Amino acid sequence: MSVKFEISFAKSVRLNGGLAILLKDTDSELPAGAESADPANVFAKAARIARFTAKGLSSLDIVAPEGAPVDRIIVIGTGKAKELSAHDWLKLGGGAAAKIRNVDKAAIFIDVPGAEAKAAADFALGMLLRAYSFDTYKTKKNDDEDKNGTPKSVKVTIVTSNAVAAKKLFAASEAIADGVILARDLVNEPPNVLGPVEFAAKAKGLEKLGVEVEILTEREMRRLGMGALLGVAQGSVRPPRLVIMQWKGGKPKDKPVAFIGKGVVFDTGGISIKPAAGMEDMKGDMGGAAAVTGLMHALAAREAKVNAIGVIGLVENMPDGNAQRPGDIVTSMSGQTIEVINTDAEGRLVLCDALWYTNDRFKPQFMINLATLTGAILVALGNLHAGLFSNDEKLANELTAAGLATNERLWRLPLGKDYDKMIDSKFADMKNTGGRHAGSITAAQFLKRFVQETPWAHLDIAGTAMGSIQDEINQSWGSGFGVRLLDELVRQNYES
Ligand code: MN
Ligand code: ZN
Repeated sequence: MSVKFEISFAKSVRLNGGLAILLKDTDSELPAGAESADPANVFAKAARIARFTAKGLSSLDIVAPEGAPVDRIIVIGTGKAKELSAHDWLKLGGGAAAKIRNVDKAAIFIDVPGAEAKAAADFALGMLLRAYSFDTYKTKKNDDEDKNGTPKSVKVTIVTSNAVAAKKLFAASEAIADGVILARDLVNEPPNVLGPVEFAAKAKGLEKLGVEVEILTEREMRRLGMGALLGVAQGSVRPPRLVIMQWKGGKPKDKPVAFIGKGVVFDTGGISIKPAAGMEDMKGDMGGAAAVTGLMHALAAREAKVNAIGVIGLVENMPDGNAQRPGDIVTSMSGQTIEVINTDAEGRLVLCDALWYTNDRFKPQFMINLATLTGAILVALGNLHAGLFSNDEKLANELTAAGLATNERLWRLPLGKDYDKMIDSKFADMKNTGGRHAGSITAAQFLKRFVQETPWAHLDIAGTAMGSIQDEINQSWGSGFGVRLLDELVRQNYES
């Protein structure tokens, strides 16, 4: 993070230099809080000259007039403030954060029509998400940092009539921001630094929040019969790990909800090796595991009233003398056998054992897995929606709604018997690819064979976890996609 915002809330503030940011909607005459900075005349003139109409996310930068209690005033347009969604407030926060440069304090006046406490907390969340950038490995630091690379901190006071309530809600915003940022960090870390063992150690760090963390080694997985996951790992000198995280924030008798993540720390494709171009992006093939870890962080940090399980399968897919071959047949923990047609279809081999293990041990009320699973999902949906596959209408609808609320959008694709047939194998119970056609769907059908009757959803996040479109609240390659989505799902439907 290159800028660190220390955010507080106040009903009013005594300005003494620095930057004032005022929100203004299209309908009101003057920006809220303008009186305190007394820029009325200057503002009107500047707005006229700049043709500023307060359209959403537009801005007007004014040097404060002589005698004003601040040095600079930035007016940010909200559009029709009464119509702003939660996500619009996040974007406004992100837009404001981007304007805060070369100052050590800023006051932000956000009282526009409809700006409730929740809006203020969402605005602050948007600021925190925007402030993130991953520059751990840059030795030349930018202006916002001191010479040791320590982020410069900026004291931000959000001025709102709902200050007390906003401050309370902000505790959850901070928990969510930290969860998203953890997921982004994990995805952005280079693959030489973040192997399965190192990733597991990061997950272990959640213990400080009260999460119970177990780490299974290769021997323990062997004993459990996880032949599918272990087959992927056998071509790498780095040993695999399975991490189980438990947050017990609900009533003891409440059945847990479970989240399972694909954590291929680097995917060369194995013996079915990938082409060189773009292979560096395969450091992000653990985006599902990163999202699950970030989510567990968020739930624990905001003390969500839910029993939640996070299970991540961590392996590296490499081609060496011991690597698995196309044609190999492996036995999964479920007992079902799999013919490996293509060693680059490894994510499902990791997930099938993680799903079976989770279901068998915890009997959860539902399982949701996240995985950067198929290139085909990018062909279908681009970077704008993740693919959603589910055996349960209620869960699918809840996920879709959470996607719309957080703008981490999902688009549902079909499952069916005739697609399922496409992965029948000549030599084993199934094969690990169904060919090019319907590639995302046959991958989902494969996973479905390991979930039994448990309500389940698979999110294919290959297009959204990394390299996604940069916007007001994300400037990072690793987006942290899934953390806000699933936090919202839990908050709306599963907290007691
Ligand atoms: Mn692969
Ligand atoms: Zn992969």
